[in-house]
Amino acid sequence: MGDVKGFLKHTRAKKQYAAPTERVEHFEEFVLPWPKEEYKDQAARCMDCGIPFCHQGCPLGNKIPDFNDAVYQGDWKGAFDILKSTNNFPEFTGRICPAPCEASCVLGLNNQAVNIEHIEREIIETAFDEGWEKPHPVVPKTNKKVAVIGSGPAGLAVADELIKKGHEVVVYERDAQLGGLLRYGIPDFKLAKSVVERRVDLMKASGVVFKTGIHVGTDITGGTLAAEYDSVVLCTGSTIPRDMQIEGRDLKGVEFAMPFLSHQNQKNGKEIDVIQPRFNAEGKHVVVIGGGDTGADCVGTSNRQKAASVLQIELLDKPATARSTENPWPEWPMVLNTSSSHEEGVDREWSMLTKRFIGEAGQLKAIEMVEIEWIDKGQFKFKEREGSSKILPCDLALLAIGFSHTDPSGLVEEMKLALDSRGNLQTTNFKTSHPKFYAAGDSRRGQSLVVWAIAEGRKAAKVVHDQLMAEAVSITVVADL
Ligand SMILES: Cc1cc2nc3c(=O)[nH]c(=O)nc-3n(C[C@H](O)[C@H](O)[C@H](O)COP(=O)(O)OP(=O)(O)OC[C@H]3O[C@@H](n4cnc5c(N)ncnc54)[C@H](O)[C@@H]3O)c2cc1C
Ligand code: SF4
Repeated sequence: MGDVKGFLKHTRAKKQYAAPTERVEHFEEFVLPWPKEEYKDQAARCMDCGIPFCHQGCPLGNKIPDFNDAVYQGDWKGAFDILKSTNNFPEFTGRICPAPCEASCVLGLNNQAVNIEHIEREIIETAFDEGWEKPHPVVPKTNKKVAVIGSGPAGLAVADELIKKGHEVVVYERDAQLGGLLRYGIPDFKLAKSVVERRVDLMKASGVVFKTGIHVGTDITGGTLAAEYDSVVLCTGSTIPRDMQIEGRDLKGVEFAMPFLSHQNQKNGKEIDVIQPRFNAEGKHVVVIGGGDTGADCVGTSNRQKAASVLQIELLDKPATARSTENPWPEWPMVLNTSSSHEEGVDREWSMLTKRFIGEAGQLKAIEMVEIEWIDKGQFKFKEREGSSKILPCDLALLAIGFSHTDPSGLVEEMKLALDSRGNLQTTNFKTSHPKFYAAGDSRRGQSLVVWAIAEGRKAAKVVHDQLMAEAVSITVVADL
């Protein structure tokens, strides 16, 4: 819990960033570390609150007061051991987690929450610097084979947990490089790909085998995997994007956010030499449709590509700057979020409906929007505000309105895996409708967060391990009879 009176002595420190004008010139990370002493002061703000709601706030159940106390005591190795006991990849969450733990921090009731995420990042980076983070020790082999499909955070967490138990683990990934959305979705300026590679290298050294460029369901069938492996875990993500079927949708220049973002990441990673003109914002008037985090990533990327202008629009009303009485602590605060990408330059408009895309010779040239008034948000009912329609120049419209569900074709179709009412893989305790197949992460849960994907991967791995060991025991008992 740090210093008992720490929260009275220290205020919450702001994260330090390189200046916006400087950081938009490159795609590197730009968060600057604090001096080591500042982390100690920030950890000291964690109070003796009795019931640490942050435990529930964090999907991994990170033992936050314990690692804060260790940091306050200067025991960074102890803090690392505590953090790693619940989180396989703190270097990811310490950079890009929206920190639901901080939203539920008890200090946040009448003060500013403890800086949990930033402390987490420093703990794991210290561990890497000091050489404490090593491949897992070799354990006796179980002679059980598990295939993991997908190398996003869920698949990586499943593999990392199962290799520790002595199983043979092979991860199949259809993309050329590993990491799922960590690599191809989340921009490099939020998460450097060297951080993903550092973790993958450790996992390889622990014995995990990665096979890239293999699309399960196309290059290898689910039936083959079912025959070769004792268990198969699907961590295939929620990949079907939400679309908008309005006039002009088929014009060149109306693009989904994901290919736009992944092209830039591929260019940074030297997988491609040039970004295709349709995914290049340089000199263009960009309108990002969707006010969420993916939209913010499009804003940051457009600015780095030197767009002529960037506008982000959102259908919902502008959120308030502070919690309302209907949204009390420790709920996730539905308040205005100004991200580092917004600070780099963007116009933002809320309560705005896209009416149509306007083009010339098949190319997007303008966008028509209209202001709306919400009648019933629960029923998704709104009306257009009379006389508020406007047409703005637009050469690139990026659809960042989320993902609806996992891909129902290919492997899912072949293995006849049941889907739930939202189109995600239907599971009971992470088991799908096929006895050998399990699922974790966005493919099961729907579009979510990296911290949830890791948490799901850990839980699914435990279910798989328990099942494999139960089968091993029953085979031994039968053999003994
Ligand atoms: C642009 C963007 C930015 C985001 N930013 C954040 C953020 O800042 N913080 C945060 O917490 N969350 C963020 N998220 C959400 C987060 O990235 C996801 O919730 C998380 O990555 C889900 O992990 P996953 O392992 O379930 O799936 P994914 O990361 O989607 O990985 C699925 C993997 O499965 C592979 N795959 C699929 N089908 C097959 C197949 N048949 N054969 C072989 N391989 C297959 C895919 O190629 C992919 O690599 C963001 C999402 C997007 C789109
Ligand atoms: S993983 Fe996310 S929610 Fe959990 S302690 Fe870290 S920042 Fe908080």
